[in-house]
Amino acid sequence: MSHGLENVREQMRQTCKEAGRSERDVELIAVSKRFDRDAILPMLEAGQRLFGENRVQEAQGKWPSLRAQYSDIELHLIGPLQSNKAADAVALFDAIHTVDREKIARALKKEIDKQGRQVELLIQVNTGQEAQKAGIDPLETKDFAHFCRDELGLGVTGLMCIPPVDEEAALHFALLKKIADELGLAKTSMGMSADFDTAIALGASYIRVGSAIFGART
Ligand SMILES: *Cc1c(COP(=O)(O)O)cnc(C)c1O
Repeated sequence: MSHGLENVREQMRQTCKEAGRSERDVELIAVSKRFDRDAILPMLEAGQRLFGENRVQEAQGKWPSLRAQYSDIELHLIGPLQSNKAADAVALFDAIHTVDREKIARALKKEIDKQGRQVELLIQVNTGQEAQKAGIDPLETKDFAHFCRDELGLGVTGLMCIPPVDEEAALHFALLKKIADELGLAKTSMGMSADFDTAIALGASYIRVGSAIFGART
């Protein structure tokens, strides 16, 4: 029914096999941003339950009704978060991959406590040190992770990155994995349609795949 999804799953299986990794250690996040429920429903019918969105407001518009139909949907926020949206994000998402500054960490801590919800948190690392890109500097990641854990008591499970478009993604994936290992963080969120196989080979636990599943975004 969905060739994109089938192809990605097959490529994941193949890559795991070649890399000597267990398929169970790599989770596919189907990135559904800018696709509506008609595009998402076939993926749900094909058994996909883990989805990623990059905007809180857009996700609020389409996921509550889909969740009413499929109660076991897991939704991850993979786009930038403003602290005035922290309450909405904590209420809707099961994981947030884009924790990257003290203000947002504090806002999330407050909402997680208030709402009593379990939300998995990952720190976004700006591995390319790009001025315009979100994420914490690689050199500050250790201090920030300790701030989240020790000062706020905020459980962080891993790190996420979006490599610069014009650079070899493998270098950034390797760096992210190295920092995660040094911090004893189990999860890495890395790899998109063009490079998820590279990310899997370098240890990704979450890959975030949009266009290879849903087709080109308009
Ligand atoms: C859109 C997006 C993706 C998916 O990108 P594709 O190239 O369509 O697979 C992955 N991660 C983030 C953070 C995104 O915003």
